[in-house]
Amino acid sequence: MAHQWRGVIREYFDRLPFNEGDPIITLGEGGTPLILAPALAKLLDVGQVHLKYEGMNPTGSFKDRGMTTAVSKAALHGAKAVIAASTGNTSAAAAAYAVAAGMQSVVLVPAGKISWGKLSQAVAHKAQILQVKGNFDDCLRLARELSQGYPVFLVNSVNPDRLQGQKTAAFEVFDALGYAPDLHAMPLGNAGNISAYHLGYKEEREIGRISQMPKLWGIQAAGAAPFITGSPVLKPETIATAIRIGNPASWDLAQAAKTETDGAFGSVTDKEILWMHRFLSQETGVFVEPSSATGAAGLYKAFLQGTLPKVENIVITVTGHGLKDPDWALKTEAGKKIKPKKVAALATSVAEILGLEKNK
Ligand SMILES: *Cc1c(COP(=O)(O)O)cnc(C)c1O
Repeated sequence: MAHQWRGVIREYFDRLPFNEGDPIITLGEGGTPLILAPALAKLLDVGQVHLKYEGMNPTGSFKDRGMTTAVSKAALHGAKAVIAASTGNTSAAAAAYAVAAGMQSVVLVPAGKISWGKLSQAVAHKAQILQVKGNFDDCLRLARELSQGYPVFLVNSVNPDRLQGQKTAAFEVFDALGYAPDLHAMPLGNAGNISAYHLGYKEEREIGRISQMPKLWGIQAAGAAPFITGSPVLKPETIATAIRIGNPASWDLAQAAKTETDGAFGSVTDKEILWMHRFLSQETGVFVEPSSATGAAGLYKAFLQGTLPKVENIVITVTGHGLKDPDWALKTEAGKKIKPKKVAALATSVAEILGLEKNK
């Protein structure tokens, strides 16, 4: 019988706040692979590491999980337009799902701080894009004000419908493994994702599918690490633009995720992020955008410092696809641009450059 993954609302219908007959706006999000990564298990000296590869969502990041629920709810309420503040991936998702819903999308991005891969998605899906002279936190404040005073529907993760969709990633981890990992790490920006995993795993425990919560680890970039400094960062700076956020919206939910699971927050430098970005592509075969390498980078740092708990099973969410922000892959560690060598169109020339000897 014909079957394909139907998107997170239909796949988890009885665990989401939807009723029969509600509009469902989907692009088939979710159902992303959980990839065994022996190279990482070796690096961290633990039994097993799996990567939850959220870059495999329709617009290339986990934001699609929350956007299907947020835009479906917007449709239920008769919205004609949605608005989102974004470091890039939320705008790509909002724009695509708005098209699927037949709505207009408005996205507010911080001027000059968004990768061209993500910007191209918003443009392709005919969003009205405004570059705000300010940072992400300014964009979010504006989006909230506009949605309160004007007929535009807010689809940022301060909208609780977003977390409902995003929690399905925790369900999928259990569905794939048959158990919950001991520790689950991810990048930490506006803190919607860690809050959603917390919600998802709590629900798994309530229905008795798991007995023990995974320790939730959220890792920030050192230049944008309010959860480490303990207060908002006024001028967040990092090459990991998806987590370049100084004043996280889901502050209390993230604190609860950490304390209630005996988890941790950490931070890593841009250099450590880029090292792990390279390791993931070169040693595990998984290509992610730099921000997405932050969770693994934080675990490796903890391992080196001797603070990684002795656990058997780890899941790391890698949040977005490498093609979102490909420039970083085209540079050496020292920052030099990488260009493929030119060669004459002759087998002997190619073989010479590759150092190959002719078969006997
Ligand atoms: C949004 C995003 C994050 C941060 O997630 P939060 O929910 O804001 O903490 C991390 N990585 C990527 C690729 C993202 O798009």
